Amino acid sequence: MVRRSPELNVADETVDARVNRPPSVDALARSIAVSGLPHPICVELARDAIAAGDPASAPGRAMAFRRTLLTPVINATGVLLHTNLGRAPLAHVQEAHATNVEFDLATGNRGSRQRAVGRLLAQLVGAEDAIVVNNNAAAVLLVMGALAAGRQVAVSRGESVEIGGSFRVPEVIEQSGAHLVDVGTTNRTRLADYRRAIGRNGADIAVILKVHPSNYRIEGFVEDTPIAQLASLDVPVVADIGSGLIDASCPWLHGPPPAWLASEPAAKQALADGAALVTFSSDKLFGGPQGGIICGRADLVAACARHPLARALRPGGLVLAALQATALSYLHRRAVDDVPFWQMVATPVAHLQQRAQQIAEQVPDARPVTMDALPGAGSAPGATMASFGVVLAGDHLVALRAADPPIIARAREGRTFLDLRTIEPADDHHLVRALTALAAREVTGDATCAS
Ligand SMILES: *Cc1c(COP(=O)(O)O)cnc(C)c1O
Repeated sequence: MVRRSPELNVADETVDARVNRPPSVDALARSIAVSGLPHPICVELARDAIAAGDPASAPGRAMAFRRTLLTPVINATGVLLHTNLGRAPLAHVQEAHATNVEFDLATGNRGSRQRAVGRLLAQLVGAEDAIVVNNNAAAVLLVMGALAAGRQVAVSRGESVEIGGSFRVPEVIEQSGAHLVDVGTTNRTRLADYRRAIGRNGADIAVILKVHPSNYRIEGFVEDTPIAQLASLDVPVVADIGSGLIDASCPWLHGPPPAWLASEPAAKQALADGAALVTFSSDKLFGGPQGGIICGRADLVAACARHPLARALRPGGLVLAALQATALSYLHRRAVDDVPFWQMVATPVAHLQQRAQQIAEQVPDARPVTMDALPGAGSAPGATMASFGVVLAGDHLVALRAADPPIIARAREGRTFLDLRTIEPADDHHLVRALTALAAREVTGDATCAS
């Protein structure tokens, strides 16, 4: 539903004045120019409204269109890496300036856009080399295309998964030109199963792909084969760890790794265990911009970089600069201060509780409440982080989305919850304003009903 803002009522008047004659496209378009949308868009919306036989809908259409534009929102869901809200929030800002993205300042010749960021990432995870592509789906596609096109890829039946947004392991392998060989069973796949697949008559297995199932978990009679065992076989092991934890010991945190990370695979350890290549997303636990990292053996990384798809999948200078900034933060051991995702993780519950109390003091309808925040983006499925937020009676999701900036909350059993772990403290005043407006609206709403 789209509510009309008062400044857009002018169009209604334009329409009302010509009751029996539809307004011209041009007049109607001009009447919705106050929406701030560019003229060609206003013309198109005006045309749509007239074609629908409902010129009065033009302001509503303009409002609706405006709300489809990308805009900062307040993530009150408590899901730290919310895929629909852009996963890891990014702190990086960039000046309008030329950069040496493919220019070697030492020689004055053409340089490689991958070189610096590749070295930083390789250093972080203890790899020989690394390159970046547009996302992790692209990373897996490129690795399979470069190392296994026309040959076979062995994947455990328990890891032939679909990750949100239709990343399906069998389909990605098929697209790369490689052929999937299913190994083991859905719940149990042992080293002997891989060995049998490799030794089978006519087998031509180029790589073993180990996929972290990310957003689901099977329990009970379950067994998978760890990378350290797979590495004893004669075939390179590629580990798609997905979530992008770079080091299980989290040296950038001032303290031990949080408990919720316990069963999350990490790039450094996967490589130390013998993975030839590791791929992961740079906008999940890494906390950077959207990207896919391929790291590991230099010869295999080079094979990926040489593949024709590498050009099609390469990231732009903006992403590389943001990734470089994120990698430098880790290497300087400042990630917990500089990387918004780790800031959110490291905020003590007591701070969140304090903020919740402050908000509740200003908004009488809001009450502080303990909550469970989630890492999100398929990371550490089932794990939660202690958190604090505020709760209000009633489902206010629609009204909160209409606030400026829009607030994305969660509703359960007729109550609205706003988790403070995913909200910048600097945004708390927006919350107070929106929640106060909510209360005021309800009072007016009640008055209207009564009259
Ligand atoms: C998230 C994920 C992907 C997809 O990564 P994108 O960066 O979204 O393309 C692939 N594999 C695994 C295991 C994942 O967790």
